[in-house]
Amino acid sequence: MAKHEHVRVAVIGSGFGGLGAAVRLRREGITDFVVLERADSVGGTWRDNSYPGCACDVPSHLYSFSFAPNPDWPRTFSGQRHIRAYLEHVTDTFGLRPHLRLNHEVVRMAWNEDELRWDIETSRGGFSADVVVSATGPLSDPKIPDVPGLDGFTGKVFHSARWDHDYDLRGKRVAMIGTGASAIQIVPAIQPEVAKLTLFQRTPPWVMPRMDRAISGPERWLHRALPATATLRRGILWGIRELQVGAFTKHPGELGLVEKLAKANIARAIKDPELRARLTPSYRIGCKRILLSNTYYPALAQPNVDVVGGGLQEVRGNVVVGSDGSETEVDAIIFGTGFHVTDMPVADLVHGADGRSLAEHWKGGVQSLRGATVDGFPNWMTIIGPNTGLGNSSMILMIESQLNYMADYLRQLDVLGGRAALAARPSAVHAWNRKVQNRMERTVWKAGGCDSWYLDANGRNTTLWPGTTGEFRRETRQVDLSEYEVVRAARPVKATARPARKKEAAQ
Ligand SMILES: Cc1cc2nc3c(=O)[nH]c(=O)nc-3n(C[C@H](O)[C@H](O)[C@H](O)COP(=O)(O)OP(=O)(O)OC[C@H]3O[C@@H](n4cnc5c(N)ncnc54)[C@H](O)[C@@H]3O)c2cc1C
Repeated sequence: MAKHEHVRVAVIGSGFGGLGAAVRLRREGITDFVVLERADSVGGTWRDNSYPGCACDVPSHLYSFSFAPNPDWPRTFSGQRHIRAYLEHVTDTFGLRPHLRLNHEVVRMAWNEDELRWDIETSRGGFSADVVVSATGPLSDPKIPDVPGLDGFTGKVFHSARWDHDYDLRGKRVAMIGTGASAIQIVPAIQPEVAKLTLFQRTPPWVMPRMDRAISGPERWLHRALPATATLRRGILWGIRELQVGAFTKHPGELGLVEKLAKANIARAIKDPELRARLTPSYRIGCKRILLSNTYYPALAQPNVDVVGGGLQEVRGNVVVGSDGSETEVDAIIFGTGFHVTDMPVADLVHGADGRSLAEHWKGGVQSLRGATVDGFPNWMTIIGPNTGLGNSSMILMIESQLNYMADYLRQLDVLGGRAALAARPSAVHAWNRKVQNRMERTVWKAGGCDSWYLDANGRNTTLWPGTTGEFRRETRQVDLSEYEVVRAARPVKATARPARKKEAAQ
């Protein structure tokens, strides 16, 4: 490898996960680290998703770091602009700028067994690191389906996460593909200005009312003057969501009542019985992510909107053809079709102890130890790894749990001293995964009768955590050394000889 910078820790990504890791490293007294980010600014999800109407769907006082409360959130569900500004603010407040390497896309990471380090190639030169913390995001690589004829379309095409702000939608005939979390925010935001909106809905989502409102001046003043009130507010928001978990993970039958409320939400806005039927899901609520909006259904009831029940089948010239046979000429196609989730794009870039990529290692399905480490990939950990997603609460809670685990992992390495790495035992990875998948059987995501982006090609839910955030916090508080083996590199006897790898029990 050409000349490169060596660091103790290389963090990849500068969204909530990567920035959170950077703050935590500094708090642990570790300053020998870099944050490698492919884009030209921090923010991850909240930099890339700038579509009209983009906002969080977990209240802001919970969807933020516990160590960086923001008394000034403008709304209960704040918009993208404010969340992005918050992350910039965190970057400044915690002195992270010197660690940032923007415009550095990681293209390959390989475990160097002789030196017990990761060799990292980026678009701007090489790095090596004792430990890699991969925070490349669960929803950061947009997915556009392979639609026959799309190449021949001469109008405008873009994905919701790569919004083209130079394209003026006013007066245009627009096809919106997909009815997920992004699409239901986009539809009401653009409906008033476009000439015609044709929405392609493969499966209708369940949409509940959104308790969104401006946070008043006095409330903000109170949170500033008495920070404990903001902590209390966060605690209540967290507690409510913890209490909901059992219905999703153990008693999906209890969700029937919620379904009634969601049906009433449809009926309030949609008077046409035929459209109402098309918009009413046939699976148990919660099986797919429950979406929140007060404006989605009213927008669909407007005369310039058509809902095509079924996916986009093909594009013929400038005509979009639905799987129901409908044909509509459009000027623009917007894909709200989500992201590469279960196939984790970063897995192609990582090459472990036996030289195989993580993607090959995971061919049968992704799995990890406590959502963080993988057997065969020593000293490599993910933030928001397999089975750490949430259906109903804030991902920041999970990220902060994983940061506890990361901090303890680094402490353990310190204790081992010198040239040592920790490698997850295959038996520990399998045991953890078995436990997670057994618990998954009873959940609404498995038993609810839907196909969702939570499931991989084999129908396994490798995305969500089947428990409360409190349980995950406990499971990741400390590294259990019996789940790891210690890897030490022996010094080579001759310059040409490959050093023997020694393994020892971690206890
Ligand atoms: C529109 C939208 C709304 C959401 N709303 C909510 C919500 O309300 N509540 C909630 O809990 N969750 C929400 N999420 C999920 C959200 O993704 C997480 O909450 C969180 O932001 C993820 O942070 P992250 O740092 O793990 O990933 P990201 O924010 O995606 O950051 C990953 C970073 O890694 C960088 N990167 C990726 N690959 C490379 C590479 N090879 N080299 C260098 N850099 C790389 C990316 O450029 C990016 O900056 C939402 C997601 C989306 C898309």
